[in-house]
Amino acid sequence: MSRLTEDQMRQLSGLMDARWDREMKEIRGIAERYRDERRQEVLAGRAADRLDEALAEIALSETYAIVRQDIEDVRDIAAARRRIAAGTYGNCTDCDGEIAYARLQAYPTAKRCIRCQEEHERRKAMREGRGAP
Ligand SMILES: [Zn+2]
Repeated sequence: MSRLTEDQMRQLSGLMDARWDREMKEIRGIAERYRDERRQEVLAGRAADRLDEALAEIALSETYAIVRQDIEDVRDIAAARRRIAAGTYGNCTDCDGEIAYARLQAYPTAKRCIRCQEEHERRKAMREGRGAP
């Protein structure tokens, strides 16, 4: 187990719970809105190929990007909860070092220490061809 105190763990868990609720509410709200829109389209007699078009529009829309980000956040929180249960929360998944509490306060779902995160992002940028030569 990491050296996080019970108080610190409680605070970080609280941050994640609040974020979980917020994201879930947003996902649900958007899902409901789309359901309503789709129902209206069906009622209006939109043909099947038009529905495909509508789905493609949704996939490209800003809302879809928001939902995707929300789902990613919720997944990150679920993963952090699993790390808490496993007793590995607060430890870097790459070097097994301790993640600074200040970093966890800013990013409660952080799974890497700042050094490994920077290294991870540098490698990712290189792979995607965005890195320095
Ligand atoms: Zn690390």
